[in-house]
Order: sequence, then C-alpha cells, then structure tokens
Amino acid sequence: MIDGNKKSFGDLSTNFWKYEFRCPCNKCRRKKVRVSQLLTFKLEMLRIALGNKPVIILSGNRCPEENEKVGGHPNSAHVPKPIGEGADVKIKGVKPIDIGLAAEKIGGLRIGIAKWGVHLDIRPPSPSKFWVYVGKKIIYSAHIENTSLAKFYKIVMKGR
Ligand SMILES: [Zn+2]
Ligand SMILES: [Zn+2]
Repeated sequence: MIDGNKKSFGDLSTNFWKYEFRCPCNKCRRKKVRVSQLLTFKLEMLRIALGNKPVIILSGNRCPEENEKVGGHPNSAHVPKPIGEGADVKIKGVKPIDIGLAAEKIGGLRIGIAKWGVHLDIRPPSPSKFWVYVGKKIIYSAHIENTSLAKFYKIVMKGR
C-alpha cells in the first residue's frame, strides 16, 4: 500500500487471527486451526457492542485430549467437528456478565458466565441457552430460567 494508512487485518476476520484460536497442546502445533465464520462474525459484533475493545480469546480450538485435560464437556463446541464453534473470551475492564448480556442481544449464541470470562458458542440450546460456572460446578438455565440471561444470572447468584 502506498497511502500510508495500511491496516493489518486478521486472517480469520477483521480483528481475529488463527493463532489466537490454536489448541495450546504440543500435538496440535501444526494442526490447521478451524473456526466457524459465524462465530468470528458474532465476536466482531460483540467487540463493536462493547466499545471496540479487544476481545481476548482465552480458548478456541481444543483437541479431544486438551479438552479433557481442561475439564471441558465431552461434546464441547471447542473441539472442531470439523470446525470449532466455541470460544472462551474476556474483555479488559468489562465484567463477564456484561459481555454475556451483549452476546445475548446479538443472538444465536449459547453463553456460559464464569469468573475468568465468558464461554460463547453458536450451537443451538440443548436445552440450556445459558450457564454459570460456580467453582467447579456448572449451573444450567434449562430448568431455571431459559429466556433471560439477566433473570437467570440473578437467580443463580442470589446469596452467593
Ligand atoms: Zn491439541
Ligand atoms: Zn468454553
């Protein structure tokens, strides 16, 4: 480029790079990173919704071994089949619940709220749309409140 305004864009989408989604285990170092374009599109929307602050990918793709190691659900959206449909994210200065509420507005995402950030994936509710990681336990929304993340979160956090 000669205009001097050259911007570098990610190789997945405007702001996301494959390396950010790579399975961190040694075995996968050379494996192709596979991430759903719908997911990265929704992550771009999330970034815009929350003031264009960088969305930090804490976990993207995981091979089955890595998924087991980190205690992921056996049918986790992080494990590409054949593409990864989930990511754990955080945004500096934004509370996980606020990331979750913005993701709920974007729609088409399952949302797991944790202390470290938020799990997001594009899988349909099965049947839960939301969950909260409480220590090592996961509390699912299906039989509590499956229509509003704010209501569900309030119920779960009551007295905690
Ligand atoms: Zn791996
Ligand atoms: Zn996750």
